[in-house]
Amino acid sequence: MLEGKTVIVTGAAKGIGRAVALAFAEKGANIVLNYRSNLPSELPGEIEQYGVQCLPVCADVSVFEQAKHLIDEAAGRFQSVDVLVNNAGITRDTLLLRMGEEDYDAVMNTNMKGTFNTTRHVIGLMLKQRSGAIINLSSVVGEVGNVGQANYAASKAAVIGFTKATAKEVAARGVTCNAIAPGFIETDMTAALSDKIREQMQGMIPLKKFGAADDVAKTAVFLAENRYITGQVVNVDGGMVM
Ligand code: NAP
Repeated sequence: MLEGKTVIVTGAAKGIGRAVALAFAEKGANIVLNYRSNLPSELPGEIEQYGVQCLPVCADVSVFEQAKHLIDEAAGRFQSVDVLVNNAGITRDTLLLRMGEEDYDAVMNTNMKGTFNTTRHVIGLMLKQRSGAIINLSSVVGEVGNVGQANYAASKAAVIGFTKATAKEVAARGVTCNAIAPGFIETDMTAALSDKIREQMQGMIPLKKFGAADDVAKTAVFLAENRYITGQVVNVDGGMVM
């Protein structure tokens, strides 16, 4: 079903984005691999081992014109754009009492505005095709909040609202839009946590362990393949939110 389709993954150089790109490649999809600073030299080859094409595109998705460049490159190279996974995301954690304007703006600009930018540029194509799947990375923190993450929680809650509004707008043309809300997943983003915090966090997870990037990647593939699910938030969190 995904064979020969075009999948754009933002922030795909590492972590969840990398796993998502590889999971779609394994299904036979061509991958538009967005990165911002560093593209690991081996990654395009790893993707192409599945017999698919890989187009790396450098773009900062928080910048409207760079997001346009990403979508234009994808549309120019491939015949259609079938799936967009808005994965690029950052944290700038600190207590609200100390949170600077720059901490707020940076997180909102990447996590929420970046999601708007790419979706805004791709949506015309998908509506014209009368098909497409948009998958946005939210977080359990956007659902339940977290100390030291007011900016991140706001951005990820905003992504959920954006997902539902978009889903309603585009459903009649066969385009779906869903969000994934991961809990704690083993990536560089969570590697910074101290052993003490990790232990505390594991205690809060019913399945008693952090998730793997691949757990999220499989969910993204599922949401792209299933054409009767839209406007949903799928938690991949070991049962943290239920
Ligand atoms: P990660 O390992 O830190 O990777 C994030 C990727 O996004 C990096 O490759 C980064 O590139 C890229 N990126 C950041 N800002 C960008 C921008 N403006 N334009 C393009 N690319 C950009 O993070 P992760 O853990 O894989 O997280 C992926 C997504 O899942 C994020 O949206 C995150 O909020 C969400 N999430 C993660 C967890 C978790 O436990 N890990 C939980 C819930 C939600 P650079 O290296 O150039 O910065």
